[in-house]
Amino acid sequence: MAGLLSIAEPNASRPTDPIDNQNSLNNDLLARLATDATKSLQASKQYSREDIAALFDLPLMDLLLQAQTVHRQHFAANEVQISTLLSIKTGNCPEDCGYCSQSGHHRDTTKLQAEKRLEVDKVIAAAKRAKATGSSRFCMGAAWKHPSAKDMPYVVELIKEVKALGLETCMTLGMLDTAQATQLADAGLDYYNHNLDTSRRYYEQVVSTRSYDERLDTLTNVRNSGINVCSGNIVGMGESRDDRIDWVHELLKMPKAPESIPVNLLVPIAGTPIGDRVIEEGQLSVLEWIRTIAVTRICCPTSYVRLSAGRESLSDSEQALAFMAGANSFFYGDKLLTTGNASQSSDNRLMRELGLTAQFAAPRPPKQVPVMDAMSGHQSQVVLAE
Ligand code: SF4
Repeated sequence: MAGLLSIAEPNASRPTDPIDNQNSLNNDLLARLATDATKSLQASKQYSREDIAALFDLPLMDLLLQAQTVHRQHFAANEVQISTLLSIKTGNCPEDCGYCSQSGHHRDTTKLQAEKRLEVDKVIAAAKRAKATGSSRFCMGAAWKHPSAKDMPYVVELIKEVKALGLETCMTLGMLDTAQATQLADAGLDYYNHNLDTSRRYYEQVVSTRSYDERLDTLTNVRNSGINVCSGNIVGMGESRDDRIDWVHELLKMPKAPESIPVNLLVPIAGTPIGDRVIEEGQLSVLEWIRTIAVTRICCPTSYVRLSAGRESLSDSEQALAFMAGANSFFYGDKLLTTGNASQSSDNRLMRELGLTAQFAAPRPPKQVPVMDAMSGHQSQVVLAE
């Protein structure tokens, strides 16, 4: 042990010679290999439900330290990815999500004014503004059960126009079948968002018009089409910690964890069933939301963990803790679909104070398909042209 240490320790009194240089190179290499081994171990580690529960139970500082360590092994420590979200069709949604002001089922109590599809030129103008203020991804959301046949040319045109601005594109349009997912992939869509919201068990307390399995089917169609998957949750809807553990476990049961995972803190909206209940009974502790972010970061080390709804009501210190817990993506702009968001000027100030910088857009990697050589039986990956 002492011998190993003496090789690694610098010795200022000896002149440098080729052997010292070689030792130093070997040590650098060993250090790099050790880091790479840790990275691949972290990336491939399969956390059981018991492991996830044990992470949630850690003392908060231990959990934060572990999450930040994992974060730094896979991402630039102080870089964040910034997205802007625009509602391209608002309200009167046929689904009955109990937290959502856009559901047609709650319109008598939320009084939300429904709006038709936004014209293409208005969407493009908003995308240009988003780019000018530092966003690398432009997300477009429509309050649909699923896009109809007549909506598809509209969304395809939006994807192409927004991509032409040099922005990554993301859409959230409800359920997608295989053909629709392929159409969006062919148009160049980078990400598709479809949240699981919560655990399978608690889900029936949240939505009745769309099943958990239908959500998973859409995510499978998105994954198979080659589009990056964005899928997250909403904490603070009255679910238990067991439900939060099960939601993380559900992500790990997928063939590949989503590339982007929004961890939302419920914004209780008066007039929605869940919002009214939470307003009456009180909100979940912010620290439990931060725990959920940290556990997600550790279990899904290469995913972007996104701060979405709920940021508006948080202090700078609470948001700093969320970044410490491994969040590295957030929404910019003062509105998230229909709920408020932190203002752009306060985000700029916070980023300056925390020393965070914005990440540039990275295009979706080319789609690869497995191809079997009929003669040799050898399987290889072929990159498809865009
Ligand atoms: S969350 Fe989405 S699917 Fe559910 S009601 Fe709101 S807009 Fe519709």
